[in-house]
Amino acid sequence: MRLSTSKKIELAKDLSYKNHSSLQINVSLGCPVKCSYCPQNLLIKNVGNREKILRKETFIKCLKNIPNNVHIRWTGYSEPCLTPDLTDMITHANELGYNQVISTTLMGNRKSVEFVSRFLNFRILTLHIPDDAGHMQGLKIDSTYLSTLEETLRYQVTNRGINHLNLQCWGKKIHPLVSNLLNRLENQLRVDFSNCYKLYNVLSSRSSSVDRSLENMGFVTSYPKHDSSNLDKNDFYYCSKSSLSNPVMLPTGEVNICCDNYSLSQIKGNLLNSSYDEIQDTWYKDNCQKFISGELLPCHECEHYKVAKTEISPVRLNSASAPFGSSSSSNGENSWSIKVITE
Ligand code: SF4
Ligand code: SF4
Repeated sequence: MRLSTSKKIELAKDLSYKNHSSLQINVSLGCPVKCSYCPQNLLIKNVGNREKILRKETFIKCLKNIPNNVHIRWTGYSEPCLTPDLTDMITHANELGYNQVISTTLMGNRKSVEFVSRFLNFRILTLHIPDDAGHMQGLKIDSTYLSTLEETLRYQVTNRGINHLNLQCWGKKIHPLVSNLLNRLENQLRVDFSNCYKLYNVLSSRSSSVDRSLENMGFVTSYPKHDSSNLDKNDFYYCSKSSLSNPVMLPTGEVNICCDNYSLSQIKGNLLNSSYDEIQDTWYKDNCQKFISGELLPCHECEHYKVAKTEISPVRLNSASAPFGSSSSSNGENSWSIKVITE
């Protein structure tokens, strides 16, 4: 049996979207933290004459088009504390009951940083902390930074514990001054940060756009170029990171496919005048053929783009329920059990 294109499109959609939707908010087109593993140059090249900083007026208007069950993620191509309006935007979304998470380096304007360090309603507060080799090139690890980090951790741990905290560092080791600070706070606050702390040496290639020389500095990544020419007739491509349910909103209100696409090549719609669901549906409708066949850029150069294989076997319509991980397709008196095998 040959799987119809529409069935493959439906199965790929199920795999490429999570159960819950989210939206990453990019507050600044250009990030001065300049991490060596972040292709900001590519982003800047493609910004054009767009508005570069997200302002509250735009965000408030766009929020009207974002369903309340969509998680707001303050991350996506930039440090969120770079906009002076962050406090007002987070407060507004909080009053409307949105679930919010943030990933911050604590670099940015003072008002935003102080607000974020004392806001107790993020579902997850991720602190992106520096390594010992200076990969966060724009971050000055001086007494101001260290005391901001200390105050943030003290306030959050004292008022909320550590379960919502996530400390992330890309590199071989945490910067020694930060490491000393964490050790001291562990003793003073009687907490163990080891459960909320992670050191990464595997890098997202951001769709093959990160600097390749990073591989000589101990980072591991891959730069695939998928060959879809031999794709079996019943197989199809999907996003193994489920990133299609996690697009990025730019300061203009425009929506781009995912946070790994620094070339901004898949912008579809604007939340100032279309709903989140409309934009998502239109994007998939317009791109699904190329997406499932392995030809869509930027996915074509992304390590999260994978092939799903299918096993199809006939079953009687009134037979016992299909095996786990299967779906059925009606075709005359028989239906077909479709087992999808993913990597
Ligand atoms: S990884 Fe984050 S903090 Fe670093 S340059 Fe990119 S957006 Fe900025
Ligand atoms: S670029 Fe990669 S992560 Fe983004 S949607 Fe495509 S496959 Fe998924």
